[in-house]
Amino acid sequence: MAKRRRASVLLIYTGGTIGMMQDPRSGELKPFNFNALKNQIPELSKFDIDLSSVSFSEPIDSSNMQPKVWTEIARIIEQHYTKHDGFVVLHGSDTMSYTASALSFMLENLSKPVILTGSQLPIGIIRTDGKENLITAIEIAGTLKNGKPLVSEVCVYFEYKLYRGNRTFKYNSEHFDAFKSPNYPALAEAGVDIEYNTAFLRKPSSRKLKTHLVLDNSVAVLRLFPGISETTVKAILNSQGTRAVILETFGAGNATTEKWFLNAVQDALNKGIVLVNVTQCLEGSVIQGMYETSTALKKMGVVSAYDMTFESAVTKLMFLLGRYKKPEEIKAAFGKELRGELTPARR
Ligand code: ASP
Repeated sequence: MAKRRRASVLLIYTGGTIGMMQDPRSGELKPFNFNALKNQIPELSKFDIDLSSVSFSEPIDSSNMQPKVWTEIARIIEQHYTKHDGFVVLHGSDTMSYTASALSFMLENLSKPVILTGSQLPIGIIRTDGKENLITAIEIAGTLKNGKPLVSEVCVYFEYKLYRGNRTFKYNSEHFDAFKSPNYPALAEAGVDIEYNTAFLRKPSSRKLKTHLVLDNSVAVLRLFPGISETTVKAILNSQGTRAVILETFGAGNATTEKWFLNAVQDALNKGIVLVNVTQCLEGSVIQGMYETSTALKKMGVVSAYDMTFESAVTKLMFLLGRYKKPEEIKAAFGKELRGELTPARR
């Protein structure tokens, strides 16, 4: 029988609670360096996997995440892509879903896993959730089937569950079980064995990895609420330099039909601003035209985000604004499924 190939995984340490320590004076949690983190997890040397690591020289709290850091992570993955079977990105949980979504768009034609994980408690704390998260994420990233990586997409692994990254959001700031993926099933669940939901995994690409490093953050958000003023709506829609606005709407993508509101939306569209419709509901989809309160938006050319998360919509826009100049190109690409981030219209 042929000898089983040993997998090779690259660990990319960006920061987050997992590698934080309490400042003895102020009591604040601050990131510490990767060697200190490794010393806390002797289990890392016991893997039947070749493990290498790259660390940010200054690890960050993920609330300081920026598109330029996503570019840095994508570049590291690109540079090391052929040498490893999988990648684990250690990251703070606060903006992990944004980073996972951004990376999913930036890394086209993946045939290997990129798994983001972190923890709610620092690794030095006895009850930390970080060890299990890290160890299982490495195990998944190094899992081969017939010599090829089993998973080939950007994922979030947290508290025994593997999710498609661009379908997740952080929904709990205290529980170990901090992430949810309401519109797409978990890709795997870790118990005694790691059970994969194989039918829901993305197929590996046979093409060469294509990395998109240009992002444009000229995106604004207009979250509607009953009573929102005309001044606020106009201020956001007309904010200088904005190329795309996310309308956070009610229910299945509904908004007020007051004339001043629809006129403001029409004016923005006439100026070439891309408007997309994301529901404030955490589960379910935008269905423009289902109610009278979304028909006008559809007719005017507001693009449905279907069941995309807010995190996915923002990062997809940054990616598309970085790629295309014309609003029509951006709109057409936004409404399409690019990386498994949306379920197209059921009607
Ligand atoms: N503030 C931390 C961060 O996102 C929280 C965490 O890691 O869970 O970096």
